[in-house]
Amino acid sequence: MRSIKDIEIEDKRVFIRCDFNVPQDEFDNITDDRRIRSALQTIRYCIDRNCKVVLASHFGRPKSGEFDPKYSLATVAKRLDTLLKIKNKLYLSTDVVGEDTKAKVASLEAGDILLLENLRYEAGETANDAEFAKELASYADVYINDAFGACHRKHASIYAITEHFDTDHKAAGFLMTKEVNFFQKVIDNPVRPFVAVVGGSKVSGKLQALVNLIQKVDKVIIGGGMAFTFLKAQGYEIGNSLVEDDLLDEARAIMYKAKKRGVKFYLPVDVVVAPEFSENSITKYLPAQEIPEDWMGLDIGPASSRLFRSAINDAQTIIWNGPMGVYEIDKFSKGSMKMSHDIADTHATTIVGGGDTADVAQRAGDVDEMTFVSTGGGASLELIEEKLLPGIEALK
Ligand code: AMP
Repeated sequence: MRSIKDIEIEDKRVFIRCDFNVPQDEFDNITDDRRIRSALQTIRYCIDRNCKVVLASHFGRPKSGEFDPKYSLATVAKRLDTLLKIKNKLYLSTDVVGEDTKAKVASLEAGDILLLENLRYEAGETANDAEFAKELASYADVYINDAFGACHRKHASIYAITEHFDTDHKAAGFLMTKEVNFFQKVIDNPVRPFVAVVGGSKVSGKLQALVNLIQKVDKVIIGGGMAFTFLKAQGYEIGNSLVEDDLLDEARAIMYKAKKRGVKFYLPVDVVVAPEFSENSITKYLPAQEIPEDWMGLDIGPASSRLFRSAINDAQTIIWNGPMGVYEIDKFSKGSMKMSHDIADTHATTIVGGGDTADVAQRAGDVDEMTFVSTGGGASLELIEEKLLPGIEALK
């Protein structure tokens, strides 16, 4: 995969596929602009080389092919303008491949930036449509992919568009290069002990990643909703907790493989339980063996936090993906917050992957203490699974 530094871009028209899919609150305020800030390096590099820059990103999930102001990139454009602090112009087009975009592309001066409207306003984006990709490609001489978070998707702006650029005219941006190299290095050559902390809702979404991690790590710590499938597989009564009954055998197989390889496997020893999934429900802290029949486990308990802290104490490399509980609800967020603090406190190389996990680290105020917070959740999992991501394949 070539980097933007390896190709000639001076004075050219450059199309940069970014990932500006940032979280917003109910008032449309951007709550975390890390993805926008992470894209600045590549954009500035192009501006400094007198490029005319066309930026494109998806944002949320508008109904395919339909304009919906809720998913407009207007707030992103404003934030980008504030962060870039450039004297050149930043325009936002009102469409993706329509008349407005064409007119604005034609009038760009060196150093100007045009942000296209949400790529998903066009059905061709998710369909990886060749005609749509051709239109996008016509805006530029050079294609740069800096959207690591979208690289696991075979979409037009990630995949089909690359057909229109030869190897001297397409490359990865700085963010993408950094993310891929970082994960690759850690997975291929970790400093040991290497610990994986895995949480989140379901085993199914992370099954292949877990199977792969077992081959590489020295310890695995499991928390979050997925822990209950493992606990049930070991014969525990888990009440109404989240469980995937069809994966009990898989869970047993993973624990068996871990044992065979000498990988230490940690599950929660106590849990925070509630009769219902609600902010106002009563809670109890109980040993994992004592979950009442009609109650559900929604966070790990304090004894588990202490156990997990001891387990990561000597770690030299930690990969963390998935919260320890329903961190969105205050009452069930302590396990995830503690995990974040404990990981941040170690001297290990710490890699946080996944939107929710990055959000936990952010809320816990630990982002600056982590070695690397990946902007791509699904994409980083697929790298761990050792899949060839479409966005990377297309640049090779
Ligand atoms: P994932 O997308 O698989 O990483 O899962 C993240 C989600 O898992 C978050 O929204 C959490 O609220 C949820 N989660 C974590 N622990 C639990 C639990 N014990 N029960 C239900 N959901 C959980």
